[in-house]
Amino acid sequence: MQAENLLADRTRNMGASAIREILKVVSRPGTISLAGGIPAPQSFPMAIIREITEAVLQKYGSEAFQYGLTEGFPPLREALAAYLETKGIAATPEQILISTGSQGVLDGLGKILISAGDRVALEAPTYLGALQAFTPYEPRYVQIETDDQGMLPEALDAALARHPVKLIYLVPNFQNPTGRTLPMERRLAVAEIIQRHDTLLVEDDPYGDLRYEGTPIAPIKTLAPEHVVYISTLSKVFAPGLRMGFCLAPEPVQRWLVLAKQGVDLHTSTFDQALAAEYLFGGHLGCHLPKIIELYRPRQQAMLTAMDRFFPSSFSWSRPDGGMFVWVQGPVGWDMEAVNRTAVERGAAFVPGTFFFAHPGEGKETLRLNYTMADEATLSRAIKILGGVFEEGAKVFQKGTSSAFRSSSMVSARC
Ligand code: PMP
Repeated sequence: MQAENLLADRTRNMGASAIREILKVVSRPGTISLAGGIPAPQSFPMAIIREITEAVLQKYGSEAFQYGLTEGFPPLREALAAYLETKGIAATPEQILISTGSQGVLDGLGKILISAGDRVALEAPTYLGALQAFTPYEPRYVQIETDDQGMLPEALDAALARHPVKLIYLVPNFQNPTGRTLPMERRLAVAEIIQRHDTLLVEDDPYGDLRYEGTPIAPIKTLAPEHVVYISTLSKVFAPGLRMGFCLAPEPVQRWLVLAKQGVDLHTSTFDQALAAEYLFGGHLGCHLPKIIELYRPRQQAMLTAMDRFFPSSFSWSRPDGGMFVWVQGPVGWDMEAVNRTAVERGAAFVPGTFFFAHPGEGKETLRLNYTMADEATLSRAIKILGGVFEEGAKVFQKGTSSAFRSSSMVSARC
């Protein structure tokens, strides 16, 4: 059977995950990968999980293994309403929708909101998983200019004035891939702009709790509640394998998300939701979060210190106050996909930045580094290797591309 002939048009838009392909290559033994984007396994609270598993069995018994409401397990929705209150977000448990990972909300939003040709505004660069969730629905992406403090409100305002936009997607805290955080003045400006243009903003906040410096900044949801879908997850502060995401959307959007979710998975795992409820009700997040921060802060410090020492002066990079990533800008004209191939041969790997742009071919001279998955000494070693590769590249790119740094387009041109 020619299965290709069976595919719906939207399936053809999905393509293979470029990052997964890269991760396959870089997970070779002996390669230090700064390419991943996942939490350190040591950050998972294994002793607490053992304790709350017992508590869930005691407290909920067979109820934890029964079908449940699509909207979510009531005790978890109650616990999350209290958690959101600590961020200044007012929500009743009924307004909260539990999803299978926050990725589940992104998929649901694409499904219920995007028709072919609708405009979706996003940061340039943005979270690759959002592009993967939205692209099958054939939006036209409008990339909004950013600087080292995130999205430029005046660029957003100008884009909304030019054309109607179906939704804006934004990661305000320690953004994936840049690590940037949108300051309060810009949040106020964005809140004013979306209300004036009557446009929906999707505020995706998986990293807000992973703050190593400074003080938390109010979510945009608190500034324009009727115009914002706030999304978050327990993936970065508990365990991603539980796939525990949630959102707080304006009422009609929430209703459509529930209908869409019914067709996908009926509801998120009841047992996992019960574990998450016990984690929050038991006060474990408050006790465990500082431990995660104490694990990641020195890792980030070690990486930034090594970058100062080993990266060429023609490179610049972000210095995030939290999260999991540092964004690196190389000199104009570089092709980081080609550089990454050489780096992998030398024993260290990163993600070329071009994958995080909605339009192909942009950001060729950029890359993303992750610091949560390796210890300080390993991170320093990897950065030293990358520094060497970049120094070597500086000579090569000045003269023109040599075989070691051949770009993929040159390879195909030769074949
Ligand atoms: N949004 C952003 C910005 C992310 O970085 C991630 C995880 N990489 C997600 C959403 C998805 O997280 P999860 O589905 O595990 O909740």
